[in-house]
Amino acid sequence: MVTTATADSQPGELCENCDAVTPHQVSIKLVTESEEDAHAAFSREPYRVMKCQQCGATSKQRVNDM
Ligand SMILES: [Zn+2]
Repeated sequence: MVTTATADSQPGELCENCDAVTPHQVSIKLVTESEEDAHAAFSREPYRVMKCQQCGATSKQRVNDM
């Protein structure tokens, strides 16, 4: 399996909304998963947020799940 670890600013990703591979803007965001948890500060998970440059739809994927 070949993967590139470099952060590409506009990789082609499949957009379910466009039903096509389109350029996406990718950013990493820390998302607090349980705000009521006293340990919320420790349960922030990095998410990879992808925004379709064609229709503006966003999708996010937990980095740890990749
Ligand atoms: Zn799209």
